[in-house]
Amino acid sequence: MSHSKNKPFAKRSLGQNFLVDETVVGNIVSELQLNVGDTLIEIGPGRGALTEKLVATGAKVIAIEIDRNFVPSLRAQFHFDRNFSVIEADVLNVGITEIVTDSDRGSVKLVGNLPYNISTAILERAALERNIFSRAVFMFQREVVDRISAKPGMSERGYFTVLVESSFEVTRLFDVAPEAFSPRPKVWSSVVKLSPKPPSAADEPAFRKLVSAAFAQKRKTILNNLKSVVIDAETTLKEAAIDPRRRAETLTLDEWLALYLASQEKRPDSLEPPDRLIKRPKRL
Ligand code: SAM
Repeated sequence: MSHSKNKPFAKRSLGQNFLVDETVVGNIVSELQLNVGDTLIEIGPGRGALTEKLVATGAKVIAIEIDRNFVPSLRAQFHFDRNFSVIEADVLNVGITEIVTDSDRGSVKLVGNLPYNISTAILERAALERNIFSRAVFMFQREVVDRISAKPGMSERGYFTVLVESSFEVTRLFDVAPEAFSPRPKVWSSVVKLSPKPPSAADEPAFRKLVSAAFAQKRKTILNNLKSVVIDAETTLKEAAIDPRRRAETLTLDEWLALYLASQEKRPDSLEPPDRLIKRPKRL
């Protein structure tokens, strides 16, 4: 295989655009606000641009890299650093719960310059496992950050925005130009900080199902979208004080939660199968 500076060539299929701008690396590390005893999970260390600075802080660093060509050079580079380990795996097949020890809990942070093709999947997983970590600092393509930070009324706002907003306090930190990477991507990137929120819906799968259904066809009104999943959708919207003619992207998070509560209100306490959770019993 060909090497440049003894490092493997970048693979576009794995979103390999490596950070070469030291200032950006430093800014990402400082946003993590590392404390002694923190455990960091780095997703996609690649050539180790971020890893080097992370390991130097003394925090325990667990890196997860899918590309087996990088794993030996990472092991060699950090051979003497007892606070570093690398797992060769697809991050989507590794649960955070599986890799942190009980004593790490409460001090876990996530970091990564993430490949575009798995950004949605990583965010979904992070939302599900958010009780295990206290902060995540991620770099995404700017378009992904536009989507997750879209305010009510913006066209980028969708199911995914509401999912992320209900799970995290999202702070958009800074944009990064293509020149900060090698090879240079075609688009800008953005760095965000995600601070986990406690569950706001008692039944999160039911909440997600409701939101997903409401965004099913963006050009339809919320009433028309909800009809397929909520029995008596009109009354449910009325109880949540939401005009049935509105479109899903105009709702605030509080309104989504009110809608969820209204849809759950008359749900019997009995053990309903999950696919029926948001249906209301028919009125007599
Ligand atoms: N952190 C390095 C940096 O900033 O220079 C590399 C960032 S590069 C954008 C993304 C990295 O994620 C690559 O090293 C790539 O091999 C790795 N990667 C891609 N898909 C992955 C997956 N499913 N699981 C783990 N790592 C993955």
